[in-house]
Amino acid sequence: AALPGLAVLGDRLPVTLPDGRTVDYTNLDYAATAPCLVAVADAVNELLPWHASVHRGAGAASRRCTFAYERARETIADFLGARPDDHVIFTRNTTDALNLLARALPEQTMVVGWAGEHHANLLPWPRSVRLPVPESPDDAIRALASALAVLERDTPVLVAVTGASNVTGEVWPIERLAEVAHRYGARIVVDAAQLAVHRPVSLSESTVDYVALSGHKLYAPFGVGVLAGRADWLDAAEPYLAGGGATEYVGDATHDVRWHAGPARHEAGSPNLLGAVALGTACERIAAADRGAIDAREQALLHRLRSGIEALPHVAELRTFSADHERVGIVSFAVAGVPASEVSEHLADRYGIGVRDGLFCAHPLGRRLLAEASARLGRPLGGSAVRASIGLGTTPEHIDRLLAGLSDLAG
Ligand code: PMP
Repeated sequence: AALPGLAVLGDRLPVTLPDGRTVDYTNLDYAATAPCLVAVADAVNELLPWHASVHRGAGAASRRCTFAYERARETIADFLGARPDDHVIFTRNTTDALNLLARALPEQTMVVGWAGEHHANLLPWPRSVRLPVPESPDDAIRALASALAVLERDTPVLVAVTGASNVTGEVWPIERLAEVAHRYGARIVVDAAQLAVHRPVSLSESTVDYVALSGHKLYAPFGVGVLAGRADWLDAAEPYLAGGGATEYVGDATHDVRWHAGPARHEAGSPNLLGAVALGTACERIAAADRGAIDAREQALLHRLRSGIEALPHVAELRTFSADHERVGIVSFAVAGVPASEVSEHLADRYGIGVRDGLFCAHPLGRRLLAEASARLGRPLGGSAVRASIGLGTTPEHIDRLLAGLSDLAG
C-alpha cells in the first residue's frame, strides 16, 4: 500500500511483451527518474489555469504565480535545512546547479573531489584535483585531509562530493568530510541528486556549504533542480545567464548594468514556475511523511534484492566500500557471460521490468568497480553493468520478478 500522501502516478502501467502477454510495468529505475507523486500532479493542475508571468505583473494571476514560486523556494529551503542567509536558486537539474556553482567560484578556486563522481560533479570544475576512488570512508577522509594540507592557503578551495552514489547507492560520510574541509578553510558542495530523496539533507546540521539536486529524482518532473547554499560567492559572481529578471538597473551604455543580489541574479529569463511548484510540493510531502517508515520499507526491499543477488553465483554487485556499508535503494550488478544491455532487454521483454544498463555517467567508477567485482566473482564481467533502483512504488513482488529474471540467465 502507498505510504500516506505519497502515492505515485503510473504505478500500474500495462506493458505488452513481445510474446503478446500484457503485464504491469515493473519500475526498478527510480535512480534515473522517479515517477511524479499524485500530489505533485494535483498541485500543477490546480495552478495551470492561473499560469502567468512570475515577478512581472500586478494582475491576480501573476500575483498568485509569484506567490507560488516564492513559496516553493521557501519550502525547499526548509526541506534542505537552509540557514537564514542561504540562497535557494532554481536551476534545470543537478548538472545545471553544479555548473552554476562552477561559474560562481571565486577566481583560482581549486576543487577537490574523487574520481568516482557522477560526470555532473566531475566535469564542470575548471581547476580540480581528482583523488582516487577510496577503499573505505576512513580512506576518503584521510585522502581529503592530505590533499587539503598541501594546497595553497590563500586560494579558495571547494570539496565536491556525492551524498549517495548513483552507481552503488553507498552513502558518503558527508558530515565528517565537511568537518575536514572546514578545518582547512575549504567549503563543501554535496551532489544530493540521489541522497535527498532517501535521507534528510540539512545544510545547517551537516554544515555543508552547498547542495545540488534534481526534481525528477524527487518525484517531480524534469526541468527543475536547485542549488542551495552560501550567498557570498553567488552574489559576487557574474550572473549565470545574462538577461531580464537578473537586473536591477540597465543604463544606456553597453556595460552599464547593475545585477540583483540573491537568487534572481542567476535566474534570468521567465522561470519554470510549474517545475518549482512541483518540486516544492514533492519536498513538502516527503518532509511531512514518516521518513523512518519510508527508509525501513526501502531497506527491507534492498535487503531482499541484495541477498537474492548474493545467492546467484553468476551475478556480482558493484561496491566501493564494504558489503555492509550504509546504502540507499540502488544496486548495480553484472551477470557473467551476458552483456548488460542483453540483461536489461531480457528483463524488459520477458518480465516487463525497467532497469538501466551502462556505466551510469560515472565511467571511471564503473570501470573500476566492474574490474573489482569480476575479481571477486572469479569470472569476466564485460564493460558495463545493470542498475536496479527502488522507490515509493516498489514492492517485494517487483524484486522477486527481477531475481527470477536474473536466475534465467545462469550459464
Ligand atoms: N549526480 C548524481 C549522483 C546523479 O545520479 C545524477 C543523475 N543520474 C546527476 C548528478 C545528474 O542529474 P541530472 O541529470 O538531473 O542533472
